[in-house]
Amino acid sequence: MDFNRLKDAQLDGKTAIVRVDFNLPKNDDGSILDDTRLKAAIPTINFLRKANAKIILISHFGRPNKKNDPKLSLSFVIPALNRALGTKVSFNDSLEFKDTHKIKPGEIMLLENMRFHEGETSGNIELAKKLAKLGDIFIQDAFSTAHREHSSSSVIGKILTSYPGLAMEREIQHISHALDTPKSPVMGVVGGAKVSTKIELLGNLVKKLDILVIGGGMANTFLSALGNGVGSSLYEPSFEKTALEILKKAKQENCKVILPSDVIVAKHFQANAEFRQCSPNEVLNDEMILDCGANSINDIKLALDKAKTVIWNGPLGAFEINPFDKATSETAVYASQLTKSGQIVSVAGGGDTVAALKHASAADDFTFISTAGGAFLEWLEGKNLPGIEILRKRP
Ligand code: AMP
Repeated sequence: MDFNRLKDAQLDGKTAIVRVDFNLPKNDDGSILDDTRLKAAIPTINFLRKANAKIILISHFGRPNKKNDPKLSLSFVIPALNRALGTKVSFNDSLEFKDTHKIKPGEIMLLENMRFHEGETSGNIELAKKLAKLGDIFIQDAFSTAHREHSSSSVIGKILTSYPGLAMEREIQHISHALDTPKSPVMGVVGGAKVSTKIELLGNLVKKLDILVIGGGMANTFLSALGNGVGSSLYEPSFEKTALEILKKAKQENCKVILPSDVIVAKHFQANAEFRQCSPNEVLNDEMILDCGANSINDIKLALDKAKTVIWNGPLGAFEINPFDKATSETAVYASQLTKSGQIVSVAGGGDTVAALKHASAADDFTFISTAGGAFLEWLEGKNLPGIEILRKRP
């Protein structure tokens, strides 16, 4: 993809409006529970400071019902931002954007929650124009918002020349490399609860992959569609037809599908529940499938040995409850080892997937992990993301 590069932008003395994602999880006392997204914004801000730009940061926070809901003000971010940057960031709570012109080169100002403005989430063009007037260029550094047609995340980019921030640039490069120009064989690992939420993903992936592993709750719908009784497992009978269509499409596209060849079943969905391993056609009526079995894990490892690129979304079992995290954790650790030894490029993403890889202590060795849930999925589904379209080089 040919997109604008921040290193080519004229920045000296210019005002850059930077879309960041400061939608950080926090306690009621204002303390930040996870500062990953804040940290992700720092390299771009420092790059702009060095280039002598005036920096206006914009972000959303939560889902406010009314303007100026003090609980959803972005002011709580300022102390952490000051610490991370080693300089003072000013906070501007004016919804009329008063005093934004007072900012000097090298200085940073954070504007109040963009969702306090009516029209932000509907992508109002007048709001985008007002925002665009505050600066000379737009920098989108919040990949997690790139699937949204909101005024501050993509509509403003139709007005101002737009560049990806450094975090965004990494996301685009890694994901497009894994999806558009990967080294083959390319393997997908798709798990999670339901087929219904990932139909488009599976449909698009079988066109791009050589091998597709299907695990987690969604595999149950496939197993049932293939004539296995799945007892009291999580599954979606109304999607059995879809599952069969996906298998047919995979065959046409020469994509080998690996479904669980054995499963771990229990009578209760709880930690340390009594369990047994069996073949998919031996599940009793009062049992539920909560993980893939040892043979399946072996099948997945053998497939990983052949792969050069691996794309992963969704856990392979109910990984939050012990011991049903085994297939997810063993596969994650194996993939991370192959990545470390240079055999595969591994890209993973989606909220639960990141949690699952962290749970397996495997996240650090993946080539790239995208923390953007919705945007990562929509990209894998083959959709054009509005927040990325604005970054394409215009003739
Ligand atoms: P998703 O958000 O679709 O990626 O789904 C993630 C959730 O699926 C996690 O909370 C897992 O515990 C759950 N999950 C995965 N496999 C199973 C399974 N066999 N039975 C029930 N839940 C599962």
